[in-house]
Amino acid sequence: MSDPVPPRAEIVVDLAAVRHNVRVLKDVVAGAAPVQLMVVVKADGYGHGMVEVAAAARAAGADWLGVATIDEALALRAAGDRGPLLCWLSAPGDDFAAAVAADVEVTAYSEEELEEIAAVGGARVQLKVDTGLSRGGAPRRLWHDLFAVASDLEREGRITVTGIWSHLAASDEPDHPANDAQEEAFRDALALAASAGLEPGVRHLANSAAAVLRPSARFDLVRCGIAAYGLDPAPGASPPLGLRPAMTVRARLVMSKEIAAGDGVSYGHTWRADEDTTVGLVPAGYGEGVPRAAGNTAEAWVDGVRRPIRGRVCMDQLVVDLGGELPPPGTEVVLFGPGDLGEPTAQDWAEAVDTINYEIVTRIGGRLSRRHV
Ligand code: PLP
Repeated sequence: MSDPVPPRAEIVVDLAAVRHNVRVLKDVVAGAAPVQLMVVVKADGYGHGMVEVAAAARAAGADWLGVATIDEALALRAAGDRGPLLCWLSAPGDDFAAAVAADVEVTAYSEEELEEIAAVGGARVQLKVDTGLSRGGAPRRLWHDLFAVASDLEREGRITVTGIWSHLAASDEPDHPANDAQEEAFRDALALAASAGLEPGVRHLANSAAAVLRPSARFDLVRCGIAAYGLDPAPGASPPLGLRPAMTVRARLVMSKEIAAGDGVSYGHTWRADEDTTVGLVPAGYGEGVPRAAGNTAEAWVDGVRRPIRGRVCMDQLVVDLGGELPPPGTEVVLFGPGDLGEPTAQDWAEAVDTINYEIVTRIGGRLSRRHV
């Protein structure tokens, strides 16, 4: 936070932190058996900038990148990324031909999708099985047929099956019974695939939390998103890993002023001063993705001191309690950052507004400029 403060408000993304986190994750999964690391950069790199994070992740040794949509994958290719890249959330009408032409591996959930992908010719396909999340992926009763069709298409030379994978429902709760059940189901799926003659190069199940907490779920590859951004994948359960949060959201105070005991602050007067005090105006609101629920719950760091946010967060601005001080306009405000200097973290904000750190960083943006350092 020694950099010059911007005129208004900005997101600063520390790419050295991303590189550090990727190296930490590679170390975590390094063991007797080689495990590849996929860094998940969907949703604009969880709000950190997909293209910049992707380049940093590759530079630090990410073997794969993962995104949700074909459009995201094509944007990475357009930005020059050439490494192994998987996308997993197709929708009717998606351009599989463009994905295949760009050497993007696609995910199939169903026989119909496999046929659609095979029609393109030359696709590298990963099969997704639902082992208990009840979201995407083939349900168990259809695994046999999915594998049979995939195997036939592969024998006919119309697709190459490169992976089989699934996704966990409760990896951030290591004692949740779904973890064992899903891992066992995944092993069943792999055995069934093998009996259909499929020999996929990568079998994968783990996201960040499972990569860190559940060695048995690592298989050939782990798909890490949140930990690569330096945020705790399983608050309360993760071992200390030395991850470094990459995102800081900072602004300049617009004004500070005195208010009197009894004055209400912001819409609806949901907070009233119980004594004469001072408040400051910060130019960021829910139009920038600051959660409205941060009003009266979260804190911001103003000139080195944590200050409570008072009253409702508005569309363009929010009000902090300055406790009687009157810092000048332009004073630095940090909404959240790595926490090294005592500023709140995205995790602090998540707890204050009853959500997860993912949502805090992914939604922040709007009119904020973003700078990578
Ligand atoms: N794998 C899939 C299929 C995902 O959708 C995601 C993100 O939600 C991840 C991996 C990465 O998860 P995490 O950010 O918890 O590491």
